[in-house]
Amino acid sequence: LGRIPPAHVRRMLRVEAGFGCPIPDCGNPYLQWHHFDPPWAHKQHHDPNGMIALCSEHHAKAGAGAFTMEQLREYKRQGCTKEVRGRFDWMRKRHLTVLGCNFAFDCKTALEIAGEPVVWFNPDEAGYQLLNVRMPTASSEERIALEDNYWIKRGTPIDLTCPPSGRTLHVKYENGDTLGLEFVELVDAQAAARRYSFGDPSMWPIQFPITAVEIHCTLPGTDLILSPTIPLFGMQGCMALSLPVAFGIGDRGPAV
Ligand SMILES: [Zn+2]
Repeated sequence: LGRIPPAHVRRMLRVEAGFGCPIPDCGNPYLQWHHFDPPWAHKQHHDPNGMIALCSEHHAKAGAGAFTMEQLREYKRQGCTKEVRGRFDWMRKRHLTVLGCNFAFDCKTALEIAGEPVVWFNPDEAGYQLLNVRMPTASSEERIALEDNYWIKRGTPIDLTCPPSGRTLHVKYENGDTLGLEFVELVDAQAAARRYSFGDPSMWPIQFPITAVEIHCTLPGTDLILSPTIPLFGMQGCMALSLPVAFGIGDRGPAV
């Protein structure tokens, strides 16, 4: 039995925790899985009743015995009471933005809908381009927002995954709205070709290595799909275009 619990147990534990570490005043969304009843050393198991989602700091402290079994039971019952927020520590001056099957390089605004920016970058004082995402939705409920690499959980997602590596974020809502973000280091054009079978990186006028920011989302009711596996990019009232629909370069307005 491996130490990492199966996917359905991980999901159960992060939903139970409210997607943040439930230790009072923590709320860190980068969760690990602590076995406490019985402890892993006594019996190897993945029984969610005897497990709790904790951030890496509180997981280590729990492993050293900082919390009693009663306290951990109470934290499980209560879940996270703090606002759940995190940040991407990936700071780059240039990105390859991958929007479903579309590519944008060095574009301030990578995606704009009806004149409103949806995916864009703001430079900080050192010139690092920080990611901003405003998720459009057909729902009246709020959606997760990403501002200058910081994100805040908004609305009531049915799942939110962000492993401690801090490289990916996936959020899913009841109406089917999903947002996936992933940072990927591409060492050369061959690595890019392996990852994006729908593109032709050898033709791209960009220099490797480059950091890609991949953005996937599905927004039922808006017809917007950004997916690496569905070769379409459609919007309500617009023709669906076949790929690659865009390779935007430089700051000459939105790429898409
Ligand atoms: Zn914590």
